Amino acid sequence: MVKKLQSYAKKRTFKETPEPKPKIKRSKGKAIFVIQQHHASHMHFDFRLEVDGVLKSWAVPKGPSTDPKIKRLAVQTEDHPLDYARFEGIIPHGYGAGTVIVWDTGTYKNITEKNGVSLSMPEACEHGHIKIVLNGKKLKGIYSLMRFKEHDWLLVKGVDAYADARRKPVATEKQSVLSTKTIEKLDKKFKKMQGSDE
Ligand code: MN
Repeated sequence: MVKKLQSYAKKRTFKETPEPKPKIKRSKGKAIFVIQQHHASHMHFDFRLEVDGVLKSWAVPKGPSTDPKIKRLAVQTEDHPLDYARFEGIIPHGYGAGTVIVWDTGTYKNITEKNGVSLSMPEACEHGHIKIVLNGKKLKGIYSLMRFKEHDWLLVKGVDAYADARRKPVATEKQSVLSTKTIEKLDKKFKKMQGSDE
C-alpha cells in the first residue's frame, strides 16, 4: 500500500464502495482542484487540491464563500486519490455513507509566498498558509487557507475582481458541474435504496 493514501484506504472497503481505489497519480497539465458537496451524517463541502500525486483535503461545513469578509472553517481530512476528483454518486454504507456531487472543479495556481519567497505546495501545506488562484466553473480568483490549530484551517476569498459579497454560490448554484445532478436529487435515491435494504 502506498503510504500517502494509507489512511484513505484504511477507512474504506473497496468491494463495498464505488469510491476510487488508492492510487498515486498526477495530472498531465496544470494541477487541479475539486469541491464536492457531500451529504454524509452532516452536509459539508470537501475542498481538495492536487499536491504531489494526491488530493489534499479539507471538509468545509458551510462551503466556500465569494465574500472576502467571510472566513469558513476547513477541517483537514485524509489525502484522497486524484481519481476522486471525478467521483459523484452514492456511498451506500460505511465511512462517509451518503451522497456526493462534484460541485466545482478546474485548475489552480499556487501563489504562496513567505517573506517574498515563493513556497511550493508541499511547503505551503507544511507551513500552514496556502494562497492559490482557482480557475473553476463556479469559483475563480484568489483563495487562502490558513491553519490556526492542528487540523483546523480557515478558507477565505481573496480581494480581487471575482470577490462578490452578494453571490452566495453554495445556496444558489446547486447543480453538479459534471452532470445536472443536485445533492437533493441523489438524497431521494439514497433514501429509496436504504428503504429497500431493510
Ligand atoms: Mn466528506
